Amino acid sequence: MNRLAAALTTACLLAASGCALQEPGHRSAEASPTPAMSAPATSVSPTASLPVSTPSQTPTAAASPSAPAKDTRTGRELDQPYQVDSVIVVSKAHPVSARYGPPKPTSPYGLDLAANQALKKMTAAAKKDGVKIVVRSGYRSYATQKQVYNNALRNYPSVASAKRYNAPPGASEHQTGLGVDLWDGVTWSLPMANTATGKWLHKHCHEYGFVLRYPKGKEKLTGYAYEPWHFRYVGTAVAAKFGKGNTLTLEEVLGLA
Ligand SMILES: [Zn+2]
Repeated sequence: MNRLAAALTTACLLAASGCALQEPGHRSAEASPTPAMSAPATSVSPTASLPVSTPSQTPTAAASPSAPAKDTRTGRELDQPYQVDSVIVVSKAHPVSARYGPPKPTSPYGLDLAANQALKKMTAAAKKDGVKIVVRSGYRSYATQKQVYNNALRNYPSVASAKRYNAPPGASEHQTGLGVDLWDGVTWSLPMANTATGKWLHKHCHEYGFVLRYPKGKEKLTGYAYEPWHFRYVGTAVAAKFGKGNTLTLEEVLGLA
C-alpha cells in the first residue's frame, strides 16, 4: 500500500495537469474535447435517407436509432473522434490521433467552453449546499497522456493494474476537453466517493450535463475501472438518459454496449 501510494504520487507529479492516480491509480485517459455538439465527419447522419412519413417527426430527438454506425476510422480519419448522435466517444475502443484536440481551450483546465460553463454552474450550486468542488485534472494532450501512461506502466504494481486506471495516448477522454476529474481538494482516489463532494456530485451532476463516466461494475463496457472522480460533460439532454444514481455508461446509452 505504501509502495503503491508512493508510486502513484510519483506518477501524479509527472503529469502536467495532474492525474488521478492513487491507490487504485487513476486512468487519466478518457474523454473527449470538442463541443459535444459539433457534427463530426464520421458521425452518423440519421436523417440522410429516411423516408419521411410524418411531417412533424424529429428523427434525432426520438429514441436512439437502432444501431450506431460502426467505427471504421483509420489513418487521418482518427484526427476526428468517433461520434454517435453527435456525442463524442473517445475510449480504448474508439481512439483518436495526436492531432485531435479541443479547438481552443478556454478555461485554466483547457475544458471545452460549454463544459466549462456547466462546471461553473455546478460548482456554484454545490457551494450553496456547502460543498466544495475542486478540479484536479481537465484537458490533457496526446503527448501529456503518453507521459502519464508510460509513467503509470513504470510505477504501478503491475501492467494490468496500470491499464485499468490509465488510458493509453489517444484513448483518454481528457484529450477531448469534456472529461474532468473532480474532488474536494483533500480526499482522493476511491474514498473520494464517500466525501460530501463525491456524494453531491453523484447525485446532482446530471442536472448540469455531467455523467459519471466509469461507474462501478462496468469495467467491461467502459474499459476502465470504477472512477468516482471522473466526470464527462454530455449536456443535460443526454445526461438525463442516464437515470438516477448514474449507473449507466455512455456505451449503454448510445447503444455501443
Ligand atoms: Zn479522469
